[in-house]
Amino acid sequence: MRYTTDASGRKRVTLIEGDGIGPEVTTAVRRVLDAAGAPIAWEVREAGARVFRAGLSTGVPDDTIASIRETRVALKGPLETPVGFGEKSANVTLRKLFETFANVRPIRELPGVHTPFAGRGIDLVVVRENVEDLYAGIEHMQTPSVAQCLKLMSREGCERVVRLAFELAVAEGRRSVHCATKANIMKLTEGLMKRTFEEVAKAYPGIAAHHILVDNCAHMLVRTPEAFEVIVTSNMNGDILSDLTSGLVGGLGFAPGANLGEDVAIFEAVHGTAPSCAGKDVANPTAVLLSATMLLRHLDEHAIAQRVEEAVLTTFQDGIYTQDVATQGSVRTSAFTDAVIARLGARAEGWPARDHKPLRIPSSRVETRPPAVRAWTGVDVFVESALPSEELGCSVEALAEGTPLRLKMISNRGTKVYPSNGGLTGCVDHWRCRFVTRDGAAGLDDASVLGLLARIGARHRWMHVEKLETHDGALAYTRAQGEEA
Ligand code: NAP
Repeated sequence: MRYTTDASGRKRVTLIEGDGIGPEVTTAVRRVLDAAGAPIAWEVREAGARVFRAGLSTGVPDDTIASIRETRVALKGPLETPVGFGEKSANVTLRKLFETFANVRPIRELPGVHTPFAGRGIDLVVVRENVEDLYAGIEHMQTPSVAQCLKLMSREGCERVVRLAFELAVAEGRRSVHCATKANIMKLTEGLMKRTFEEVAKAYPGIAAHHILVDNCAHMLVRTPEAFEVIVTSNMNGDILSDLTSGLVGGLGFAPGANLGEDVAIFEAVHGTAPSCAGKDVANPTAVLLSATMLLRHLDEHAIAQRVEEAVLTTFQDGIYTQDVATQGSVRTSAFTDAVIARLGARAEGWPARDHKPLRIPSSRVETRPPAVRAWTGVDVFVESALPSEELGCSVEALAEGTPLRLKMISNRGTKVYPSNGGLTGCVDHWRCRFVTRDGAAGLDDASVLGLLARIGARHRWMHVEKLETHDGALAYTRAQGEEA
């Protein structure tokens, strides 16, 4: 069930107006959709700055959650997390609460919107993983001066978003999917997405699958943006790349988006609250209007979606712009909205409509294959110390004597510094001491590790411990820079 209806058969949609320019741009959407005859029953609910300031630390009240759980569809203005109120972004909270695991951000060159890329035929979609990666927001001050953020990526999380990218390509008749990762550096996390992509691609032989390093992807998006059709990528990469791609077609005012999950879909523009524009009737409502056309298609209202899209496009073709793109003369948000309403029913010449087939949302229940042989061969103990590397190395080496573990090396922020490689690596007070079993054998046990920790803890402050395993003989961890096999 993708949506629900009210007693009169109208499709129920939760509407969160949002902060900053949110109320202005969502008002534009309501006016245009009402004028277009969209059979929608809006359920207006709150989230964001006012809620935080009223003392609710999540920024998302229970009745907003209840409404989305029932309607399964929401249109959302941007939300602000005011400094000093609540720690977590209400946007991220909503995405996670409803497991909207993919953030789909299409951009297409718009007729009449002049950019340095005009005439190139840019037409691509960024599919951003939406609930994992660094945006899990698991952070710790490891020492008073060293911060850590955990980058967690799962096989399930990668597979469902990669599948969704291929399904989107199928639904929209696109011929290629790129997967943008930093797998050359982060071989286990970003590498998991790359490997998953390569496996999933086999099920879609009709679609060309290309892996690309994300930094090169940013470069190529500026050089040959027309070469890309669908780009699937991890959460933070996608956040950055999709702001870049919005810039290719005129800026954040033109970039729509949809947060899609198995149960719920939340539609919102890529942009934020744009505080400098708020309350002035100057914001560009196009991004939220185009998000609303995505919502209409999700509700199976394809004809109305097309009418709204063409009305927006003909408004541009007639030279009517808001101030963010106008080279000479601009109209206000409300006047732009009037112009769109006046053009409902107009045909956008030279704008071939895309054939949108229903998008199949992949299941989150992904089968994972556990390794047949899993061996525990060592531990990384992270230690805070002001000692120089040589002194710390000798100290922990001595502390491990008489235990089943020996010190293999110490690294500082990922680079081996003990035993020295002869380099001049700068060190902070955060060290990784890598211990392996003396005979290299598997079968380490908790008691041995706890014994080692007690010894280390008597002399140094340790922060955390990571197990070193092999899975079917392959390392389930990475080596430090400069660490020998
Ligand atoms: P932003 O709100 O997207 O704004 C960046 C700049 O882009 C604005 O200052 C404005 O430029 C321009 N802009 C964005 N949308 C526009 C529109 N519809 N019409 C015209 N110009 C537009 O990004 P930010 O300044 O980084 O973030 C501001 C706040 O929004 C933060 O609190 C952030 O956390 C939040 N945010 C929320 C979401 C969300 O709810 N999904 C997403 C991103 C950010 P000019 O100033 O040059 O006019």
